[in-house]
Amino acid sequence: MKAFEKNIRKVVPYVPGEQPQNKVVKLNTNENPYPPSPKVREALQKIDTERFRLYPDPTSGGLVEALAEYYHVEPEQVFVGVGSDDVLSMCFLTFFNSEKPVLFPDVTYSFYKVWAELYRIPYECPKLDAEFRIVKDDYKRENGGIIFPNPNAPTAIYEELDVVEEIIRENQDVIVIVDEAYVDFAGRSAMELIAKYENLIVVQTFSKARSMAGMRIGYAISNPRLIRYLNDVKYSFNSYTMDQTALVCGVEAVKDQEYFVRTTKTILETREWAKKELAGLGFVFPDPRANFIFARHPAYTGRELFEMLKQKNIYVRHWDTERIADYLRITIGTKEEMQQLFDCLRDYMEEESHLIL
Ligand SMILES: *Cc1c(COP(=O)(O)O)cnc(C)c1O
Repeated sequence: MKAFEKNIRKVVPYVPGEQPQNKVVKLNTNENPYPPSPKVREALQKIDTERFRLYPDPTSGGLVEALAEYYHVEPEQVFVGVGSDDVLSMCFLTFFNSEKPVLFPDVTYSFYKVWAELYRIPYECPKLDAEFRIVKDDYKRENGGIIFPNPNAPTAIYEELDVVEEIIRENQDVIVIVDEAYVDFAGRSAMELIAKYENLIVVQTFSKARSMAGMRIGYAISNPRLIRYLNDVKYSFNSYTMDQTALVCGVEAVKDQEYFVRTTKTILETREWAKKELAGLGFVFPDPRANFIFARHPAYTGRELFEMLKQKNIYVRHWDTERIADYLRITIGTKEEMQQLFDCLRDYMEEESHLIL
């Protein structure tokens, strides 16, 4: 081994879902099946490439203001970043700086563990209960901060706001981050608790309900003090996180409320139909409150169904990890895409049952 090896920061990276470059039915990374608002395309066509000469606005002012207006908060309460992954990573670096362990659920967004390891933050993972629900009493002990998604990923389970509030209220000596990547498909946001609790940060993204995963825009809403701490870290890291184009497109996406409501509603309708279809095929799943369903079939392993679907060019997500190896995480696509999935599953199951007979 080379001597320098021992001083290299080694990490086990997060593994993103596959992005196959050929055409497949892509239900594996919770992207939106619909394009972003047509206003985004119009704005893009007007972009003056001459301005690419210049650095973008380091404060991301226009986008920050659009978000502040949308959520009825002050611009000083908004932080934006390159996808919520960037925002969350900055939050870990800024707020999780204690000797005590940060808490997040055992089954959750797998990036949390990666950032904790990267930044050498101690952490513990209280177990979700047998139904994959958060056990709120597990978060009533000494800790160095708390983070969880609501709805949770990959389970799609939404905890009502009173549960979220209890966790925030019981932990006012540390920062609590609620990762609301999927809240637009779920219910009430913890955003309404921002004025009440100084220790709360709510993080959201343009990647899911706003159809802009490729543009990389995420944001945090909190009180001005915590946002200032976040900005201090950001400016100590990279002043120009958001590019010119993302800033322009982001503003247009926020403004087109009507389009956002319409596409979200369509996804929710498709989800309700998908629940019936999957149940009819014998799948079981917790009540999905996101743009995906976390389902298992009592007669098949997760891996078997995952491989079979992939062979047919239908991509869903599967993990070989403890507790969830028998589950598939299926993103809600268009009705046509979902129909292809159900047809494929039905054909396979019929074939299999003939083999048994
Ligand atoms: C998708 C997702 C994110 C990150 O999304 P970005 O594309 O980086 O904004 C964050 N948290 C959870 C739970 C997610 O599922």
